[in-house]
Amino acid sequence: MDYLVNTRRELHKIPEIGFDLGKTLAFVRTELDRMGVPYTEKYGKSSIVAYLGKRDAGRTIAIRADMDALPISEANDIPYKSLHEGAMHACGHDAHTAIALDTVRRLKELEDTLTCEVRVIFQSAEEYTPSGALLMIEAGVLEGVDMAIALHVDPSYDAGCVGISSGRQNAISYGFYLDFYGKSVHVARQSEGVDAIKMAMTAYNEINRARDEFEGGELIFGCGAVEGGKTNNIVCDKCRMFCTVRATSNAAYFTFDKKMREIVDRVANEAGGRGLVFPIKLYPLVINDEGVTERARETLLTIVDEEKIINKIPDMIGEDFGYFSTYCPSCMIRLGIKNEALGITHPLHSEHFNIDESAMTIGSDFFVNFVINNMIG
Ligand SMILES: [Zn+2]
Ligand SMILES: [Zn+2]
Repeated sequence: MDYLVNTRRELHKIPEIGFDLGKTLAFVRTELDRMGVPYTEKYGKSSIVAYLGKRDAGRTIAIRADMDALPISEANDIPYKSLHEGAMHACGHDAHTAIALDTVRRLKELEDTLTCEVRVIFQSAEEYTPSGALLMIEAGVLEGVDMAIALHVDPSYDAGCVGISSGRQNAISYGFYLDFYGKSVHVARQSEGVDAIKMAMTAYNEINRARDEFEGGELIFGCGAVEGGKTNNIVCDKCRMFCTVRATSNAAYFTFDKKMREIVDRVANEAGGRGLVFPIKLYPLVINDEGVTERARETLLTIVDEEKIINKIPDMIGEDFGYFSTYCPSCMIRLGIKNEALGITHPLHSEHFNIDESAMTIGSDFFVNFVINNMIG
């Protein structure tokens, strides 16, 4: 079986979450050792960086792949189904890791001809908090890097097609708790208590009204989980809402966050309780640099027909490659993997998610040729 398909299936069987990537890391190490490629694990947590080409050449290209899976039980009936109950590669990071390993394998074969340094970054915890990308960047993985490229599989495009555009690719993704603390008493003495559920609901309604002041599509506020209270006749003393904001600009995010905090403070003060906005995760926008995107498009034109290169429209999906694009000129492309004839149509994060594996070659062709075409400034 072809290296890409085989590697992706081996990884698909062993999905792991966040930073807890023992088997996945062992798999990547074994492959790199077998290829004779040097690597380090000094950046961030549970991540590996493989080195190829000429070190200290004055030019460095980074290729980033994420390795983590999701806490979802796989519903596909396939020979390489997840062996880990409650975990699944439902975002295609198995394919990203396989494509990166195939890229390393192919670049190793032409290493003598490479005139730049290539860092292939195998990152943990894209779907997790804290972001694996942020930890690696804080530890210096992008020092000396001239540009960074990455891809994400995308079931909205047919296999064989690629989505690319410059500028904003997605949304700021902000996850947080809204906590309200009150005072518990029997409901018969309601006036002596402070009702945390009432504070939460009042704040929730006001926050939604504040959201309505933004342009449609510019900002989303959602509360996906609420927890609090003991029984029907006791005033609740603690209520927690687990919420998300997606915003298409820093300005919209900052303005909304400020308003939301004011509402939480005011509602809590008026009720005689306390309110808290407790941030859990914040992913910046992925911004594709114009120059790097042009270079990526030129490379793609040598791999797929022009009509298969689709102008990507920005979406509201969070992605921690945003940290790379914040610190370094970057480009992330979308690799089509849909195949209706094979029934491969399910969205990312679905328990039925799968990919048309034939599309993966385009991914490693892209990475390998991008390096060859751009290794000289
Ligand atoms: Zn995902
Ligand atoms: Zn993903």
